[in-house]
Formats: sequence, C-alpha cells, structure tokens
Amino acid sequence: MSKPHLILSDVHRHYGEGERLVRVLEAASLTVHSGELVALVAPSGAGKSTLLHLCGLLESPQGGEVELMGIKTSRLGDRGRTQLRRSTVGYVYQFHHLLPEFTALENVSMPQLIAGRTPAEAEKRSMELLDLLGVAPRASHRPAELSGGEQQRIAIARAAANHPRVILADEPTGNLDPETSDIVFNALASLIKDEGAAALIATHNHDLARRADRIVTLKNGLVVDHQL
Ligand code: ADP
Repeated sequence: MSKPHLILSDVHRHYGEGERLVRVLEAASLTVHSGELVALVAPSGAGKSTLLHLCGLLESPQGGEVELMGIKTSRLGDRGRTQLRRSTVGYVYQFHHLLPEFTALENVSMPQLIAGRTPAEAEKRSMELLDLLGVAPRASHRPAELSGGEQQRIAIARAAANHPRVILADEPTGNLDPETSDIVFNALASLIKDEGAAALIATHNHDLARRADRIVTLKNGLVVDHQL
C-alpha cells in the first residue's frame, strides 16, 4: 500500500488557559489512505471541527505532528502551510459558501483559474465534475436558483476542482433532508473513490457513516475506532 495521504500522530490541541482551559485533543492519532473514506461521528463539542481544521492546516496543534502527502507540517512556516493546503486539501462545509453572483460552472472554475488553469481547461474539468455529481444541467444557474442538495453538490465539485489528495467535510449533509443527504453523500463517496483521495467526513448521520470504509469517534481527546 502507498504511503498514507494523511497522518495525525499524537496531536494535542487545547484552547484557553487556567480555569478556562479546554483540552480538546490529547494524543489524537489517525491515518487515512488514498481512496479511503473515514467517517467521524462524535457528539457536538467533542472536537470534530477542531480535528478537521488541524487536518486541513487551518489550525496548528500545540503538540504532535500532522503529515500531509508525506510532508511533516510542523516544520513549515505560514507560507508553506498555505501552499500545501492549497495544493492538497479540498474542504466542504455544512453551508455551501458558494458565491451568489456567479453560476455553478463559474463557482467550480474559480479555484482552478486561481491555480493557473486556462478558462478552457477549467471549464472542461468543471463540467466533468458537475456531470459526475449529477448537476451538469444546472451549470449555468446561480446558487439562488438551485435546491439545497444541488448547491451542496456544486460545493463538493468546487472542493474537488484542483484534484485535492485529501478531502475534508464538516457535516456536509447536516443541512439537508434525508433523501437529499443520501444523494449528496453518495455523490461525494463516488467522487472520493474516483479521484483516489483520502477523505475524513464528520457527520451526525449514522446511516451515512455506515457506508464509510471506517468509522472513528473522539474519546478523552483520542481518535478511536467506532461501531454504530
Ligand atoms: P465539534 O465540532 O465536535 O462540535 P469543536 O471542535 O467545534 O467540536 O469544539 C470542541 C471544543 O473546543 C468545544 O468545547 C469548544 O467550545 C472548544 N473550542 C473550539 N474552538 C475554540 C476556540 N477558538 N476557543 C475556545 N474554545 C474553543
């Protein structure tokens, strides 16, 4: 098996100090391989967002190591972290954060243009992704003209636009009805397999979590395997 895309080793993260100290992660370790979809299921406040932020280099741990694509990130400065994040991580949030004045196609093309692709290359990749996620017929629509499930699939296409090796999703179906959640989760899962990305998805939805390759939870600041 190839080297894991994402490795967390003994990661510590706390907030505040003294009486206000909140220990969120104490020695959290997790490995995610290419093409592997790991579901993270834990109660609110357990530290799911914190863990995802650390994986996505949006926050730094106070101890331990986050390794992305074989690179130990504790050795990187701010600029190095930003570069690595841009080139390896795709993030999907509970609320889609699409740009309202742009069409679906433009929203998915934008990160590719910023990364230096030509408009023709970006459009080709965007249409492939929209097609894979079943929303190609909505390419020229603006977010306000789309259903919640369509908006979220477009946000997934945007997160995947630059071929991220690691996909992180924070309650990506948290805002959707059960039937739409199903469609969106299946679309996300097939995209992850197609692209060979490593994925960590925080979800409250046990039915969806069961479709992951593995389910983990957070207990006493550790990442532990979980059976539903
Ligand atoms: P979850 O995503 O599982 O709901 P979070 O990772 O958002 O959990 O939060 C875990 C704990 O850390 C919570 O107790 C929260 O209040 C605390 N926390 C998160 N971010 C901060 C922060 N920036 N400052 C202080 N406490 C924080």
